[in-house]
Amino acid sequence: MKFTPETYKIPDVSMQPFIDDQEIWDFLNQARPDLELVKAVVDKSLNKNRLNLAETAILLKADQPEMIELIKEGARTLKERVYGKRIVLFAPLYVGNYCSNNCRYCGFKASNKDAIRKTLSRDELIANVQALEEHGQKRLILVYGEHRTYSAEYIAETVREVYKVKKGPGEIRRVNINAAPFDIEGFKTVHEAGIGTYQIFQETYHHPTYAVCHPSGKKADYNYRLTALDRAMEAGIDDVGIGALFGLYDWRFEVLALVRHVNHLEACYNVGPHTISFPRIQDALEYDLDDQYEVSDEEFTRLVAILRLAVPYTGLILTAREPEYIRREVLAFGCSQIDAGTKLEIGAYAEDPSVDQNLTKEQFKINDDRTLNEVIDELIDHDYIPSFCTACYRKGRTGQHFMEFSVPGFIKRFCTPNALLTLAEYIMDYAAESTADKGWKLIERSVAEIEDPRYEKLVLERIERIKQGERDLYF
Ligand code: SAM
Ligand code: SF4
Repeated sequence: MKFTPETYKIPDVSMQPFIDDQEIWDFLNQARPDLELVKAVVDKSLNKNRLNLAETAILLKADQPEMIELIKEGARTLKERVYGKRIVLFAPLYVGNYCSNNCRYCGFKASNKDAIRKTLSRDELIANVQALEEHGQKRLILVYGEHRTYSAEYIAETVREVYKVKKGPGEIRRVNINAAPFDIEGFKTVHEAGIGTYQIFQETYHHPTYAVCHPSGKKADYNYRLTALDRAMEAGIDDVGIGALFGLYDWRFEVLALVRHVNHLEACYNVGPHTISFPRIQDALEYDLDDQYEVSDEEFTRLVAILRLAVPYTGLILTAREPEYIRREVLAFGCSQIDAGTKLEIGAYAEDPSVDQNLTKEQFKINDDRTLNEVIDELIDHDYIPSFCTACYRKGRTGQHFMEFSVPGFIKRFCTPNALLTLAEYIMDYAAESTADKGWKLIERSVAEIEDPRYEKLVLERIERIKQGERDLYF
């Protein structure tokens, strides 16, 4: 075996910046992939081991077609061996777009005088959550600009408000947030409001690029953002999501830096991120960056496969606005979550759909206006089980993805049954007739595949109770 030994030691230093650009480039520059080495690295991952930076760099530098196929085949095999068929669905809800930063890629930047600024009033927030519930959503991520209005107390209050909204059989069972970083006290405040995941993207881990993209405002402070999740952990939030905005800098660098971020959290807090997001830059009002680092479709699917192999027990969030053929390929690599029925215009969930929305109210452009039901339809057609499961978080089973990955039978015992129960609820309460037909067939097929007759019986009993009107049953 020709692995370069991992000489780099993860410093056990919490709250300290940990990205060294040169070190990331050194790993990339030293990687010399050949077919045998790529196979060895993929096999390591298939044997349920995390990859280190040197090994991940080998996959990132592998650019021969046979090597790329080995990587993608590896990600598909890992998904089939480890993960079940379910895909968790959620929707983003933009609460307010006032912003004092000037991120060059974002339509909400302070300098954009054409942006229509708005913060949802309490009534508007409730109306939007009701509208989301009426479509069957159960999991939301609340999104905020960075502005003094959106203090930790304000954000905590909106989270509490969302949990209170009940419309018909609808309710939101998990509220995640994507917001500017807080100090430790601020993180405690949002933690106490019962947030699920706190998500924050570094956008780019490359220092010079970060400086160019974030010329002013609080977000200009690279290190304050980088160490946000350390403060979150110190405040007791151990459910965090990281991400990079692909298209700002070299994608290989960003993937390796994401893995470095995972290493840091694991080394300092013994828990890695719950999720990794990898949005690709979309066009936005007053967008003013060149496309030198644009990530092609081929590179994008490859980078998702590499992430899957590098951090096999971290959830991967795919955005539903990626084109269909990308979604199909990337879902087969084991992405675990996807947004659906997404509207980025502030307040749009509760607005008349005949009113034309436009870019002045959006953070960036999306080209996908499919409803939740349409996304569910597509998932069922491809034999995925759409899931609204929130069981682990509510049962206090933290480290869910790690357990899915490492505890034998966890997915069969918890994740698949819970996905089926939440799909049954969705069908009873919200599904279009044709979706209901194929949904019940999928449930029937999936229940028949449960190997242990005891679980099969338990699941069938609960589905029957859901048909009789009971809700929110989970294992
Ligand atoms: N204001 C907070 C912040 O910047 O962290 C949170 C909300 S911000 C609206 C959420 C994310 O949107 C950003 O972290 C960034 O990755 C993403 N974003 C901004 N502009 C984008 C664009 N043009 N295309 C795709 N994603 C974009
Ligand atoms: Fe503001 Fe966030 Fe947009 Fe930057 S990405 S301008 S911080 S809303």
